[in-house]
Amino acid sequence: MPSFWSLLHQTLPKAIHSITALLAPSSSQCLMCGNASRRTADAPFSALCGDCQQAIPWIRHIHCPVCGRPEHCPDCMRREDTAFICNRSAVRYSPLIREWLALYKYRGHEAIAPLLGEMLFTAYSQTVREMTGRSEAFAINGFIPVPVSEERLLERGFNQAERLARIMAERSGHPVFDILRRTRHSGKQSFKTRGARIKDAENLFAVDHDSFTSMLLQLSSIRPEGSLQNHRPRLMIIDDIYTTGSTVNACAHAIQDAYRRSSSDGIIEIFILTLARS
Ligand SMILES: [Zn+2]
Ligand SMILES: [Zn+2]
Repeated sequence: MPSFWSLLHQTLPKAIHSITALLAPSSSQCLMCGNASRRTADAPFSALCGDCQQAIPWIRHIHCPVCGRPEHCPDCMRREDTAFICNRSAVRYSPLIREWLALYKYRGHEAIAPLLGEMLFTAYSQTVREMTGRSEAFAINGFIPVPVSEERLLERGFNQAERLARIMAERSGHPVFDILRRTRHSGKQSFKTRGARIKDAENLFAVDHDSFTSMLLQLSSIRPEGSLQNHRPRLMIIDDIYTTGSTVNACAHAIQDAYRRSSSDGIIEIFILTLARS
């Protein structure tokens, strides 16, 4: 029969190992798949294993200058009333990204938020670089999250677009203007055809009068000196997925309409930034 000391000698290292693993269960595990993570990347990408890092379907080449799609795009040619300048997305809406977004949106995996936020911020930085090439000193004045309906908010407890906009604000130093409201619940978009989505999005959003007025006040205070006449406010709408563009276009229309009603020159530039392009 083994002595107490030899038993302790056998079990103690294992016990210490288990306790250490319990205290830091995810220190070397991939946030998404559970394999060993690669510490060489910068945070928050270091929370992923090499395979998951490699599998991020970054959009590196844009084919459609309007919606940022990496391949031929008939949607933007068909749309007659685009109220925004362009959309840029960080990644393709691949099965992997669908899975990551589902873990975050429907299962509330909060730890994924910094990762998604950083992916979006990468696209934001790229967009700023791209636009700076078109006009000198490109800067936006604030981020506007696409709102979810009350039903969806109760179901999930948070609005993913609003969370992403807050991360953008923290990283870039520009404010979030939470000015949009949904006028009704539109049901699950994923089950609808392109035509049904476009029809559905009409007048789906309205601008909250008080938040809009306070945004205008803030915008007039950050207007650059000496450019009172020609300065156009630039806003960036934030959402998680861009499909047909009808949702963000309806948001842009609501903002354009409100701005036209409130300002004599009435020109505002609206850009869209989304995490995934489907
Ligand atoms: Zn992984
Ligand atoms: Zn397009």
